[in-house]
Amino acid sequence: MARTSSIAAALPGLFRFVRAFWPYIRQHKMLLGGSFVALLAQVGFRLLEPWPLKFVFDRLISPPAGEEVDNQLVWLTLMAGAVVVVALLRAVTSYASTIGMALVGNRVLTAVRADLYHHMQRLSLSYHDSTRTGDLTIRVIGDIGMLKDVTVTAVLPLIANALILVGMLSVTFWLNWQLALLAASVLPLFLIRSIRLSKRISQVSRKQRQREGAVAATAAEAISAIRTVQALSLEDTFGNQFARQNNRSQAESVRAKRLEARLERSVDVLTACGSALVLWYGVRLVLQGALTAGELLVFLSYLKSSYRPIQSYAKYTGRLAKASAAGERVLDVFERTPDIKDTAGAIDAPPFLGEIAFRNVSFGYDPQHPVLRNISFTIQPGQTVALIGPSGHGKSTIASLLLRLYDPTDGGIEIDGRDIRSYKVESLRRQMSVVMQETLLFAASVRDNIAYGRPDSTAADIVAAARLANAHLFIGDLPHGYETVLGERGTTLSGGQRQRLSIARAAVRQAPILVLDEPTTGLDEANEQSVINALKRLSEHTTTVLVTHDLAFASRADYILYIENGEIVERGTHASLIDAGGRYARLSAVHTTTHDRRNEYVASD
Ligand code: ADP
Repeated sequence: MARTSSIAAALPGLFRFVRAFWPYIRQHKMLLGGSFVALLAQVGFRLLEPWPLKFVFDRLISPPAGEEVDNQLVWLTLMAGAVVVVALLRAVTSYASTIGMALVGNRVLTAVRADLYHHMQRLSLSYHDSTRTGDLTIRVIGDIGMLKDVTVTAVLPLIANALILVGMLSVTFWLNWQLALLAASVLPLFLIRSIRLSKRISQVSRKQRQREGAVAATAAEAISAIRTVQALSLEDTFGNQFARQNNRSQAESVRAKRLEARLERSVDVLTACGSALVLWYGVRLVLQGALTAGELLVFLSYLKSSYRPIQSYAKYTGRLAKASAAGERVLDVFERTPDIKDTAGAIDAPPFLGEIAFRNVSFGYDPQHPVLRNISFTIQPGQTVALIGPSGHGKSTIASLLLRLYDPTDGGIEIDGRDIRSYKVESLRRQMSVVMQETLLFAASVRDNIAYGRPDSTAADIVAAARLANAHLFIGDLPHGYETVLGERGTTLSGGQRQRLSIARAAVRQAPILVLDEPTTGLDEANEQSVINALKRLSEHTTTVLVTHDLAFASRADYILYIENGEIVERGTHASLIDAGGRYARLSAVHTTTHDRRNEYVASD
């Protein structure tokens, strides 16, 4: 009992993990049961192993007077055969239990990994904002992989060893309890030592696992921003940062190994003490006739192999501690619930007409620092509203709230007269298309990249969307047309082309609401025109929220909101705002002058 609770204390993560994933494990009850039976058989054969030898010693070599057996050679041959048969059976059952457990472990963890990935994707942006991508990748790939590995290389042997230990203790107590007691007397010493060290191993291993997450996160960040890293010659800066973290992780790894080695060596010494005691007392019992030589042989053979499980416990402690840390990291993600989720009684959104109303909306990513204050406006179906104003004052945040990537801290957003929180999240987002400044294309074909907008779209839908987005022609020039597979992050396409694919993706969705977040920023003039024309066609019949710095583009909107410090400071049509002579009018004057200068510069070139 003390033993079980001590392992439980040292490895809380692993037990939490087994409890949390019992529903997955339960699905493989038959296989698990079969493997366990094979495991028990394996333990039985392990216990049987020295018995043929005992028979040979006690019955053939030095039998008690008057109890000599006939046909000595036949018995000897039988016993020799038994040695081989027992070893064979043990090998077969051990193989069966290992394979069975490996199958269960792999199946369970493959399902867990898939669910973890799903869950992670559903977690709110507020969680992802505060978590490093590389660290999450390590959790899905590395931590789950480690748990898979450890099921077979540590959990299974540990269970087998514990059973072997119990079996051997029982048999030796039955043979001679005094001698068994003597052999077991070193166990408490071992337990004290191992609990103390395994706790420290566990702490170090956990830290190491976290460091590995940080190393992966740094690498992932730098690699995904490799253009910027190279452009700013930051290779050495990031390289050194990576090297420092890598070294720290290595230092933890060495510390864990050192502690493991210390535990193993302590067990070696204790094993030797136990063997010496048994030899000293056991031989005296044999000489006194209280024990047969064969029984002492069984004793010594058991002793060697019952200490071995203890020895390997030291070895497995490190691995189990790491797995427990990995398990905790996985559970930590599982136990997070998305902030944005379907409320009780949420309904499937009906096809929207597209009337949007913000009612006194306030919001802060961190509640102490409000980003939006008391925002109220209404957009009629099919209208376009442009959000204008200095950077960092909350325009994109308004778009994010409409997409329900975050919920307002105060006030509410309605679509067609109902609060968006009363719709199921998926059914709400399905009716919105988005084009952002930074278009993310996936490493898939052009066709698939467009079809991500609506997975059930037909080939004709995709071509129509590409035509609307001014993308059909350049797609035709790609080496394999629509089947061309794009490099990661779409590096094989220009900015304007990427943006037009993104517009095609939004177009194929045929959603009644369109959110455009700086869709033309960073494009050259030729591309800008082509993108703007495509966007005009796209937004013709949809309710559109446009965040932009491009005043010429914004001036075409039905009305304009000028956002400053998270508040709407001016609102109206382009003409009315110019007439009013406020901030928008001043910005527009500056914009026109720079625009004219640029044109003059181009003309004189
Ligand atoms: P704009 O679109 O007007 O440039 P944003 O809506 O992007 O402004 O940002 C408004 C403010 O919110 C800024 O101060 C910005 O730093 C902050 N902010 C934006 N996104 C996040 C985020 N994910 N987490 C925390 N703060 C954010």
